Amino acid sequence: MESLEEKPTVEGFYKHCDRGELMFVECLSCGSKFAAPKAICGRCGSKNVKWRMSKGVGKLITYTVIHVPPLQFKDQAPYVVGIVELREGFKLLSLIRDVEPKNIQVGMELKVGFEKSNRGEWPYWGRYFFTPL
Ligand SMILES: [Zn+2]
Repeated sequence: MESLEEKPTVEGFYKHCDRGELMFVECLSCGSKFAAPKAICGRCGSKNVKWRMSKGVGKLITYTVIHVPPLQFKDQAPYVVGIVELREGFKLLSLIRDVEPKNIQVGMELKVGFEKSNRGEWPYWGRYFFTPL
């Protein structure tokens, strides 16, 4: 697939989200997998990194309930932000939706979802979130 040949960038990450694709980066030199779109491996410094497409399924590693959010998320509070470990072996910080804060559990299975961003806010492309599987 042609788009997988692009250099991993933050912009590229969100453009993939816009198409309903959750991407991560794999280092072909040391095998590290990471969510942060970078053109250089954070572990070994190799530039031999490639986009990979995630199946978007993972489990919750840790979370926090936000009661006092930044202004633009004011009407969504309280909401849950967690670290999700994807089955491919990388971790991602994400909004966790469709679950009451009192029902959320470490280890619960989650799947990715996407929404279009409102124009005028950065980033201008799609966003991801996770919901219970
Ligand atoms: Zn590496």
